[in-house]
Amino acid sequence: MSNNEPIYPIRTAARLLNISVHTLRMYEKEKLIIPFKKSTNHRLYSNSDIQRIKCIRLAINDSKISINGIKTIYSMMPCWEFINCSKEDKSRCSAYLTHNGPCWSVKGENTICAEKDCRSCSVYKDFGECDSIKNFIRNKLAGTE
Ligand code: SF4
Repeated sequence: MSNNEPIYPIRTAARLLNISVHTLRMYEKEKLIIPFKKSTNHRLYSNSDIQRIKCIRLAINDSKISINGIKTIYSMMPCWEFINCSKEDKSRCSAYLTHNGPCWSVKGENTICAEKDCRSCSVYKDFGECDSIKNFIRNKLAGTE
């Protein structure tokens, strides 16, 4: 089974993380996470979601980073490298032009990503773990040496 398979109902995810259902809902409302939504509107979480939330918890509890701080860190992720955005795409995309939050929370209606399912996008699903963004930057820099 893939790490991205949505398998845990919200109560199970909360129990695995030792947090409340309310906290999980708040992270979703703040657009830090994108749980899978069933047709019944119930949420399901994958192992990858659990890792992402663990990283968020570490940032909040150990590093004392606020929710807004985490959003700013996510906003630094160069999503345009994955989507291969043109100059024109970038010129009208808040994810490229601002640092208000993760790309999936600020993308505009007229952007290349408007109709994309962010939960299935590499930018969301492959960069949930704490080390993943740093590893990406390391590899990028290694490629430019
Ligand atoms: S599809 Fe969504 S997650 Fe992927 S780069 Fe675009 S806005 Fe970000």
